Amino acid sequence: MTQPEVVIVVVAAGSSTRFGGDKLEAQVGGRSVLERALAAVRAPFPGAPAVLVVRAEHLEEARARWQPQGVRVVAGGAQRLDSVKNGFAALAPADDAIVVIHDGARPFVPADDVARVVAAASDTGAALLVAPVVDTVKRLRPDGTVETTVPRDRLARALTPQAFRAGVLRSAWEAAGDTFWTDEAALVERQGGAVAAVHGDVRNVKVTNPDDLAVVAGAFPRQTRVGQGVDVHPFAAGRPLWLCGVELPGETGLAGHSDADAALHAVTDAVLGGCGCGDIGEHFPPSDERWRNVPSKIFLRHAVTLAAQRGWRVTGCDVTLLAEAPRIAPHRAAMRARLAELLDLSPDDVTVTATTSVGMGFVGRREGIAALAVVTLEPSAHT
Ligand code: MG
Repeated sequence: MTQPEVVIVVVAAGSSTRFGGDKLEAQVGGRSVLERALAAVRAPFPGAPAVLVVRAEHLEEARARWQPQGVRVVAGGAQRLDSVKNGFAALAPADDAIVVIHDGARPFVPADDVARVVAAASDTGAALLVAPVVDTVKRLRPDGTVETTVPRDRLARALTPQAFRAGVLRSAWEAAGDTFWTDEAALVERQGGAVAAVHGDVRNVKVTNPDDLAVVAGAFPRQTRVGQGVDVHPFAAGRPLWLCGVELPGETGLAGHSDADAALHAVTDAVLGGCGCGDIGEHFPPSDERWRNVPSKIFLRHAVTLAAQRGWRVTGCDVTLLAEAPRIAPHRAAMRARLAELLDLSPDDVTVTATTSVGMGFVGRREGIAALAVVTLEPSAHT
């Protein structure tokens, strides 16, 4: 059997009123919702002509973004059904081609689900992905009380993509005239056409409210990066001692160009390393007079900003201090709190431990302090 010709329409012309902000640009698994939706629906048919339908005011921006990737971009209409028609018109498919229609707000759909709905449409003329209704369903009265319990055994939730023979859609549109339909499956149903229901992955969620992002994010592999940093500074009499952004009064300080906070330097290097941004010496060379005696929190905040610009946020931090003196335990809570503040974390996500080197080496001879840091980073949830 020869593969049917497939064309793809992705509708992204809604107004996101329930979301507050553009939900299609929200990040899920490190990429935008729309980027994910397009990639997911195109995956099983990489060569298929695809059109993205956007709001007229986003047309130029969307063309610059998507046309280089082989996606045509056209303006949508007042309602979803108009947008689908516009996308269809731009593709002008032959009557026996399969038109795949997908919501730009559905970032996750397995390639196999797309392929199965296309195969079903090829057989039946029209098909959509559905998911079971797992909760008991109630019909309510206008006053908010329950009127009845609706049997759910034959109910299903309509997902996308939906797929149709282009000729089936053309006839249905012609017959429907100016009436309203919520999706193209409803349009074909109304004309009495058979629509095959194909059970799909229940993680195929339409992002409508901000909370939906967290739900659908679970469908994507979690991306975690690890960064490590190490720093060593010798003791220097007459200087204050700063560690983890906290001053330890009455203790011998460390020699260095800045405030010599070895712990913050190690954490800064860990953040920079984790997001592939070089190292602290590159961004803040000791030869630069601007950094003389400055508080090292400046370095760490800069590293966090650079990480954010690259789409990463720190999710955890573990610092180990190697020192014979001073005792760290009395300062641990303050250190965790300060690190948490600098890294935009909760103190629960930060640990600070200390150990001696049992008399051995430069730490054992009380010549200086070494700091080791590990941080974890994940893609930012939002741009
Ligand atoms: Mg240093």
